[in-house]
Amino acid sequence: MPHYDYLCNGCKKTFSSVLTMSEHDTSKPACPHCGSHDVEQQWSTFSAVTSKKSA
Ligand SMILES: [Zn+2]
Repeated sequence: MPHYDYLCNGCKKTFSSVLTMSEHDTSKPACPHCGSHDVEQQWSTFSAVTSKKSA
């Protein structure tokens, strides 16, 4: 099962959540730190590494 990294807009902390594809499509996870659903998905690791290599 894939896991997704999120940044919480409420407390500015990151967390990862394991979701099924259908869960990911239909809902956002709650932040485990503050309980907010105002979260953004991060595509962090892969794109960060790619941009560092090209810079
Ligand atoms: Zn939070």
